[in-house]
Amino acid sequence: MRKKVIAGNWKMNKDLAEAERFIVETKNSVPSGDKVESVVCAPFPYLSALVEKAKGTDVQIAAQNMHFEDNGAFTGEVSPVMLKDIGVTYVVIGHSERREYFNETDETVNKKVHAAFNHALTPIICVGETLEQRESNETMSIVEYQVKKALEGLSEQQVHDTIIAYEPIWAIGTGKTASSEQANEVCTHIRGVVNGFVSPDAAEAVRIQYGGSVKPANIDELLSQSDIDGALVGGASLEADSFLKLVEAG
Ligand code: 13P
Repeated sequence: MRKKVIAGNWKMNKDLAEAERFIVETKNSVPSGDKVESVVCAPFPYLSALVEKAKGTDVQIAAQNMHFEDNGAFTGEVSPVMLKDIGVTYVVIGHSERREYFNETDETVNKKVHAAFNHALTPIICVGETLEQRESNETMSIVEYQVKKALEGLSEQQVHDTIIAYEPIWAIGTGKTASSEQANEVCTHIRGVVNGFVSPDAAEAVRIQYGGSVKPANIDELLSQSDIDGALVGGASLEADSFLKLVEAG
């Protein structure tokens, strides 16, 4: 049985007081980490404070991005070593907003995934098609390409420990959720890709989230699908009560 993982991606939202209050309001109410993994993906400036606030609880703190190098002349960047140093445990890699606005490519995604494992951070790798690609029936081939590039060169054990988030770009922040069947169809395809590209064991173990307008009203149906092992949630993860409903569904 794959453990569900529910991750709230705050994107570029909240001030420090709001961020800390969120952890205070959720930390004693999230289900046990043995049952479901509850992850909060926060902006860089708040990570340290949130790790402290979440200590000893079942809330895990994630970064929304990082550089792939350990250190060096990369003004404005944050390295995996720094994230590890302050107690961050997960990192989102290759979100479509980073691919679209910040030149993230399949090559940099792959380098970042390797860097995450080199520093014992769990990567949440985002893949997904645009509306145009969906309408021209390219969803499966696009997602397959992104998954293979992201996983290239990883060991079987590393793929076991990877989280892949399928986020159709047309469903992000639009209120248009992929139907649970549409979402599951692509997640099943991704598991098949991992099966062929890595191994049946890795395919059985890898966790695949769905993301795109997930909210308390649709989480149960999405999670009831055979190949959906959790959710990566933007808007509906910003309020503590909504986030709690999502993790309780996990
Ligand atoms: P929404 O849940 O706001 O659609 O965002 C999805 C997302 O991009 C999570 O990473």
